[in-house]
Amino acid sequence: MFDQRLSLALAYAHQWGEMVAVMFLDLDRFKTINNTLGHASGDQLLQQVADRLAKCLKPSDTIARWGGDEFTLILPQVRSAHDATKIAQRILKTLKTSFDCHGQEIHVTTSIGIALAPYDGGDAETLLKNADRAMYRAKQQGKNDFQLYMPDMNTQALDQLVLANDLYRALNRGEFVLHYQPQVNLKTGKIVAMEALVRWQHPIRGLVPPSQFIPLAEETGQIKAIGEWVLQTACAQNRAWQDAGLFPIRMAVNLSARQFQQHNLVQSIDRILAETGLEAQYLEVEITESIAMQDMGITISILEELRAMGVYISLDDFGTGYSSLATLKNFPLHTLKIDRAFVKDLTTDAKDAALIRAIVALGHGLNLEVIAEGVETAEQQDFLCSVDCDAMQGYFFSKPLPAAAAAQLYQAQLHQAQLHQAQLYPDQEFVAQQSTVFT
Ligand code: C2E
Ligand code: MG
Ligand code: MG
Repeated sequence: MFDQRLSLALAYAHQWGEMVAVMFLDLDRFKTINNTLGHASGDQLLQQVADRLAKCLKPSDTIARWGGDEFTLILPQVRSAHDATKIAQRILKTLKTSFDCHGQEIHVTTSIGIALAPYDGGDAETLLKNADRAMYRAKQQGKNDFQLYMPDMNTQALDQLVLANDLYRALNRGEFVLHYQPQVNLKTGKIVAMEALVRWQHPIRGLVPPSQFIPLAEETGQIKAIGEWVLQTACAQNRAWQDAGLFPIRMAVNLSARQFQQHNLVQSIDRILAETGLEAQYLEVEITESIAMQDMGITISILEELRAMGVYISLDDFGTGYSSLATLKNFPLHTLKIDRAFVKDLTTDAKDAALIRAIVALGHGLNLEVIAEGVETAEQQDFLCSVDCDAMQGYFFSKPLPAAAAAQLYQAQLHQAQLHQAQLYPDQEFVAQQSTVFT
C-alpha cells in the first residue's frame, strides 16, 4: 500500500509540478530498550510511537511501518524543503514526552532522513534509498535529529566502503596504535592505572579516532581481531613497564559489545595474560551499560569468571545507559566510571553536581570505587575531591599519550613519589629505580 501510494503521489506531483517528501525514521537505541525491558514492552512502545507520529501528520499523508523500529512517511504536496523539516521537527518534539509501557517510563528518540521528489529522485526506490542515507547521516551525527538528503551522501557512503576495505588490511599492516591515558588517585595524586585507547594510523587520513572505525569494525565483525590485538598489546606494554622497574599499575582495556558476546572471551583473556606474563590483577576491563544489559545472565557469569581470575572490572560511561539500580547490585564490579557528560558542566550546573554526588554515594554504598572521566579543569578536580570521588581521568591531568610519553609521565611521578617519601622518612634508603628508554 505504501508503494502504491508513493507511486500515485509521484505521478500526481509530476503532472502538476509539485513536490513530494519521503521520510525514513529509525528509532534510536531501540534494540537496547527491547533487550532491557522485553519484547512486550518494545511492541507496546512501537504502537504508541506510531500513534504519536500519526498525530503529527495531515489526513492526506501516509505513514507505514517499514520493519522493526523503522517507519516511512509520504508527504504529498509539500511546497518547500522547509515544510518537510517543520514536520520532522514536530515529530522530534512529540517524542520528547516520555512513554508509559507497562508502568515503565520510557524515553525514546528518532533519527529522520528526508528526500524530496523530484530533486532527490523521481521514483520510489531512489527516494527511499536516499531518505535512508540521510537518516544514516543523522544517526552518525549524534541521533535525535533530521537530515535532508544531499547528493554528496552517495560519495560519503562510498567513503565508508573504502574505509571498511582499508580496515581489513589495517591489522596486518600494523596500522593500529594504542595511546594511554593515566587515571589518578584524587587523594594521593598518584597514577593508579592507564586506559588503553586505540587509534588507527591511516596511511592517507592520518590518525583516525576510535569513534570513526570501532562502529564499522563492529558491523563487519573485525572488532574481534582488533579487540584481541588491543588486549595483547596493552597487556604486553604493562608487563614491559613492570619489567623496566616502574611501579605496577593496572591497564584498563575497553571491551566492545560484540567482543563481549564472543563465547571464548574469558579463555582468550586468560591466554593473553599467560602469553604476556601479566598478572590478572593488573588488567582491568571496561564494559558499558549497554553491553552489560544485553543478556544479564551471560554478562554476570562472564564477569564472575573474570573476577575469579583476579581481573578488575569497571562500568564505563556510567549514567548514560539503561542499567537499573537493582541490576547494578548483581554485577561483580570494582569501579564505576562517571561519564564525562556529567563532569563537563558540574561547576555551572547544580543538577550535574548533585548527580555526581549521588553517584559517588551510590558507588561507595555498593563498595565500588568511583572514577570521573573527562576532568578538564582544576575546579572540576576540586569538586570531585570535595565529594570524596576516588579517582579522575581527563585532559586536566593528561591527554591520552603514545607509550613512550605515557611512560615518561609515569616515571616522573615515581621520582616525585620517592622524593615525597624520602622527605617523610629521611632515615630509610630507597632502592633506585632503573630508568629505561621506552619505545
Ligand atoms: P571511553 O572508554 O569513555 O574513553 C574515554 C574517551 O574520552 C577517550 O576518547 C578520551 O580521549 C576522551 N577523553 C579523555 N579525557 C578527556 C577530557 O578531559 N575531555 C574530553 N572531551 N575527552 C576526554 P577516544 O580515545 O576517542 O575514545 C572514544 C571511545 O572509543 C572510548 O570511550 C571507548 O568507548 C572507545 N574505544 C577506545 N579504544 C577502544 C578499544 O580498544 N576497543 C573498544 N572496543 N573501544 C575502544
Ligand atoms: Mg573507557
Ligand atoms: Mg567512558
